[in-house]
Amino acid sequence: LISSEPSPGLQIIHIAAEMAPVAKVGGLGDVVTGLGKALQKRGHLVEIILPKYDCMQYDRICDLRALDETLHSYFDGKLFQTKVWTGIVEGLPVYFIEPHHPNRFFWRGQYYGEQDDFKRFSFFSRAALELILQAGKKPDIIHCHDWQTAFVAPLFWDLYAPKGLNSARICFTCHNFEYQGTAPASELASCGLDVHQLNRPDRMQDNSAHDRVNPIKGAIVFSNIVTTVSPTYAQEVQTAEGGRGLHSTLNFYSNKFLGIINGIDTESWNPATDMFLKVQYSANDLQGKEENKDSMRRLLGLSSADDRTPLVGCITRLVPQKGVHLIRHAIYWTLEMGGQFVLLGSSPVPHIQREFEDIANQFQNHEHIRLILKYDETLSRHIYAASDMFIIPSIFEPCGLTQMIAMRYGSVPIVRKTGGLNDSVFDVDDDTIPDQYRNGFTFMTADEQGLDGALERAFNLYKTDNQSWQQLVQKVMNIDFSWESSASQYVELYTRTVTRARASASHT
Ligand code: ADP
Repeated sequence: LISSEPSPGLQIIHIAAEMAPVAKVGGLGDVVTGLGKALQKRGHLVEIILPKYDCMQYDRICDLRALDETLHSYFDGKLFQTKVWTGIVEGLPVYFIEPHHPNRFFWRGQYYGEQDDFKRFSFFSRAALELILQAGKKPDIIHCHDWQTAFVAPLFWDLYAPKGLNSARICFTCHNFEYQGTAPASELASCGLDVHQLNRPDRMQDNSAHDRVNPIKGAIVFSNIVTTVSPTYAQEVQTAEGGRGLHSTLNFYSNKFLGIINGIDTESWNPATDMFLKVQYSANDLQGKEENKDSMRRLLGLSSADDRTPLVGCITRLVPQKGVHLIRHAIYWTLEMGGQFVLLGSSPVPHIQREFEDIANQFQNHEHIRLILKYDETLSRHIYAASDMFIIPSIFEPCGLTQMIAMRYGSVPIVRKTGGLNDSVFDVDDDTIPDQYRNGFTFMTADEQGLDGALERAFNLYKTDNQSWQQLVQKVMNIDFSWESSASQYVELYTRTVTRARASASHT
């Protein structure tokens, strides 16, 4: 196995279920890559451990090769051979874990949504720690993400720190408290955790179902640092309404819990260099944006008779969190108000997928509305570049990346004020906000009236004051959404916990 080169900075290992662009379902994938690159740029040694999914984008991995030595990782009372592959993704060294388990955990043609996800990812969490141990790595920080790798925290302290892997401190980031991965307590035993020790109210026991364990709760209890992805969401999840049953746990551990807003990878998301676009453009040269709008309309068969018809974009997972009923309403409202609407989305929820398929069929050859129900990154780039406005009517939104990407591409966001949207979009008409921060249209109440009001104001400005609109487009394109400041906050947290650990070790 490969051992890490000495590095003057921190040694940081991310263990995650997603990484853009090779294995991405949503924002988690973007964050692992974006934060990883930003940390690496600051001189830290960053490595990533991912499952080796059959459905990954293998063409985006450089130098993929299998290591000669295999791991033996524990599961259900036995050791399973586990092949480890290495490769480079976006300049970051990545280890891919391929378990030789008869259940073929990562040969399912999809990332999540399998009956045995709890088993698949508890296996992965343990194998990742096994890799770190057997490779002789001495990370300062092991950073795990979401419930799929939340097992790392209790596994580390119960099993791996005692085996000598005790240099590290654990950081856990929850990207969405809706997904907690709870399961019957007995299932925890498969990865070698002690069910009796952990199925207790002060450890991993779910706060509402006492025969179930909750991986997210376990990570909150057992990690040194717990973060979520925006300051507003961090506040929301500490309330009974927003905490999905975990608010009391988060309140108890509030001294190690913090909201840090995500950045975006501004190298990857850059209209001036984006080779997927028809024409590259920048805030100082918006002609290219017009051309992208025109080419997108042609590509999708929308009318391009009037270039002053506002084009509203929406790129999203179609799940209740995203306000699907409001998205549906926005489509009809836009049509009524003389705009065009392009939706790119797909749904893991069958009845929502069917509902939107019906709408897509209704507008199949329509000159102003197009629904494309799939995941397609290239098309997403075309839509960000082509649209004038971008709608995100989320019921809740831990951080949200699409509003930042949209702004980077000159598409003005129309969002509900919740979570990270509240921390990144400020209404152009809100006098309580300093003018330089105002960058979009917001609404508070999650209903049609709320949405209509914001859409109407956006359409009004677009149609009646072209100069102000162009200035707004330039302004949003110039906002810095890079990882710079958020990566510094992570480094500060990492450093503080590592320093504290070293200080207490030297006193013992
Ligand atoms: P979430 O993580 O809840 O899905 P975020 O806003 O944090 O939401 O991140 C969504 C990311 O996924 C963005 O990069 C967005 O461009 C991308 N995305 C969402 N749906 C699609 C789709 N159907 N096709 C391509 N990219 C998509």
